[in-house]
Parts: sequence; C-alpha cells; structure tokens
Amino acid sequence: MSAAKPRKRLATVWLAGCSGCHMSFLDLDEWLLELAQHADIVYSPVASDQKRYPPAVDIALVEGGVANSDNLALLKTVRANTKVLVSFGDCAIHANIPGMRNMLQGADPVLRRAYLDLADSSAQLPHAPGLIPELLDQVLPVHELVPVDVYLPGCPPSADRIRTVLEALLQDRRPDLSRAGEIRFG
Ligand code: SF4
Repeated sequence: MSAAKPRKRLATVWLAGCSGCHMSFLDLDEWLLELAQHADIVYSPVASDQKRYPPAVDIALVEGGVANSDNLALLKTVRANTKVLVSFGDCAIHANIPGMRNMLQGADPVLRRAYLDLADSSAQLPHAPGLIPELLDQVLPVHELVPVDVYLPGCPPSADRIRTVLEALLQDRRPDLSRAGEIRFG
C-alpha cells in the first residue's frame, strides 16, 4: 500500500449479529498493525468506548441484520456519515441467523414465544419503553433499508477476504472478490 495516501477513517458497527464477523476482523492478527498505519479506527465495539457514531467516516464494516429500533437508528446514522458502507457478513446481507425469527411473522409472536410459551417461571413480556429497543416485525438485511456500496459475504467472512476488501478500499479501489472461493456464503 502507498504510504502517501491520506489516512482513512474506519468504523466497524455491530447490529443484530453474534459478533463472529468482528472476531474474524480480529483474526487479521498482525495485519491489524499494517492497517493501523493507514487508517484510524474511529468507531468500533472492539477498539473504543465511543458511544456516538462520528462524522466523515471513510469506510464502515456493518455486521448484523436490522432487528430493532436501535439498530435502525444507528444504521441510518452510519449511512449519513459514511462514504463506503460494507455489508459485512451474511447477517447483514440476508439476515441469516437473526432472520430465523421472521418465520414467526412479527415481533409480538416472537416475544410471546420467548417470554411466555418457553418460560420456566415468571412468564412476563419485557416492557421498558425507552430502555429496551422495540423489536421490528422482521429482521431486515442492511440493503433493504439503506444503500450498500460493497457486499462481503460469509458467516463469518474469513480474515483473508476482509483483508482483500480493506486493502482495496484503503487504496480507493473497488474490491474484487471474484477469485474462486472469495464470494461464499456460510
Ligand atoms: S454472519 Fe455469521 S459470524 Fe457474522 S454475525 Fe452473522 S451469524 Fe455471526
């Protein structure tokens, strides 16, 4: 990578996912040191305690589907403040595991199944307006709510594929995942 390029502002975002995609990001291991020479991580659950998504982010890796009102609000903030939004992993791309609840057809049946039907004791629906984000009726993939610039499939995407994407974006190139095995779900 050219050292002459200006430093990028990089974010990673955790919506409704298991954090496995972020674990794969950490699997970049020593390449993270090289990444740190070219980018500042300005928002990430694995790198800082930053609560507010900052402005003027160059690249955001967004893990997870959109399952509740907090996810939705954060995603809109991310899109408004990010140049290149990467749909990061299968949950972001097609809702995947969190989307399995969609077969119950709505937030209310999901809550009733989890907190009433399957309760061992003290069956009670959670109710704390303003504290507990409202579930959306369906878990949605990121691209159904905001425009996506790059898709990075996998559950999780391998560290090698994450590196392929980041190396290109750091050099203002479009990532090419067309090599055999690099576009793969699951
Ligand atoms: S794509 Fe897989 S590894 Fe990534 S958040 Fe979803 S379930 Fe976890």
